[in-house]
Amino acid sequence: MSHLYRCLPSVDRALEWLCREPELCTVPRPMLKDLVNTFFSLRRREIASGRIQSTAQLAEDVLFPALLAFVLAGVVPRFRRVLNATGVVVHTNLGRSLLADAAVRAVNQACCHYSNLEFDLESGRRGSRYSHVESLLCRLTGAEAALVVNNNAAAVLLALETLVSGREVIISRGQLVEIGGSFRIPDVMAKSGAVLREVGATNRTHLFDYEQAITEQTGALLRVHTSNFRIVGFTKQVSLQELRKLGDEYGLPVIEDLGSGALVRLPGLEEEPLVSEVIRDGADVVTFSGDKVLGGPQAGIIVGRTEYVERIKRNPMNRAMRIDKMTLAALEATLRLSLDPERATNEVPTLRMIATPFETLKSRAGRLARLLRTELKGRGEVSTRRAESLVGGGAHPERGLPTVLVEVAPLECGVEALRDALLQVTPPLVGRVEHGLFCLDSRTLVAEEFPLVASALRNALASVEQ
Ligand SMILES: *Cc1c(COP(=O)(O)O)cnc(C)c1O
Repeated sequence: MSHLYRCLPSVDRALEWLCREPELCTVPRPMLKDLVNTFFSLRRREIASGRIQSTAQLAEDVLFPALLAFVLAGVVPRFRRVLNATGVVVHTNLGRSLLADAAVRAVNQACCHYSNLEFDLESGRRGSRYSHVESLLCRLTGAEAALVVNNNAAAVLLALETLVSGREVIISRGQLVEIGGSFRIPDVMAKSGAVLREVGATNRTHLFDYEQAITEQTGALLRVHTSNFRIVGFTKQVSLQELRKLGDEYGLPVIEDLGSGALVRLPGLEEEPLVSEVIRDGADVVTFSGDKVLGGPQAGIIVGRTEYVERIKRNPMNRAMRIDKMTLAALEATLRLSLDPERATNEVPTLRMIATPFETLKSRAGRLARLLRTELKGRGEVSTRRAESLVGGGAHPERGLPTVLVEVAPLECGVEALRDALLQVTPPLVGRVEHGLFCLDSRTLVAEEFPLVASALRNALASVEQ
């Protein structure tokens, strides 16, 4: 057996052979070396277990093509592009919002050159990174002041820590929400040092519930947008205007965690409150995400009355939650587009996907179905069906947007096997299985991606049928 070990080529010889492959020339050498070593130790194990018994199995023309496949699979970056065929536009697990071209260009500039990130060009002195987007945010929302932090969870934490720490914040039981990734409003509030004072019942809370809970310990009234669910039936929540009046009577700030935070009115998203409406209705502080229906980078935006926002800015915790220059660049570009709702709807991908008309989706699905039918001849049946896609990100939970799905029924393997195999191809394709069929919603794909979708399906079917 020991002669077999000696038949294995040297690592240097293998590296030299691999580097003839143009794709591998740019891969860091230590990474290639690790992969070659792993490959060889797998072969040594096969020799030891008797799976490899002859020198023929170790000949370079047998071994090296297998090594190449192993290495090519191993050098793919861990964090990579996927095809989103789920139809869920703001898909947190798939990266939420795609950036508009203008935002991508701004990020590129911010990365490649020095910038006035914290430098005031007028005075030549130190400036504030927030100044770059504050006036845009005020213009878009009607608020007096604004601040941006790392994400909305941080925005909620920071606002409560600044304004309510050590005192009580009153919230309706119907709004104690958990959003994805185990973010629970009550837990975040506890971390801020604010004491949670729950009022009302799960389905109904009245103004008198809030009023009866007010003591000298009370620091604020809080409303949370019940992003990802709706309580239907016998329900009552207190409106922002009513809470505003109560806040005025008792001298208490009213804070609203809006979650999604729409800046422009979109067809199909009529029920989502606009940030400007919430400010108009009297919220003192409003928090929302930058990468949900705003369609920008991950960020948590805080807008509201100057006296409160200034206090939040001065909180030392703010420094630990600050946004980076790439986020700032992308956010400024996205906010500029949002000034013109029509342009925003065309150019900000999240808004464009939400607003895509049904007829467009129908003809797009037809085109994709025809392409897949040709591609999958005899290996899968392709049909289309009317269904609904979800906005995601907590917006609009109870009603989907009308769409047309392309459905694939694999003929030579199970649908679950196909779904799993699609995650292993490059780029991986994420869709969903419904009624025993693999479903693709083209709302979250662009036409240029169709050939990639077709080859993903072809490669996945080839890999499971082997
Ligand atoms: C999404 C959401 C958050 C958290 O926002 P992130 O940007 O994900 O941190 C907080 N509150 C509500 C109501 C939300 O919908």
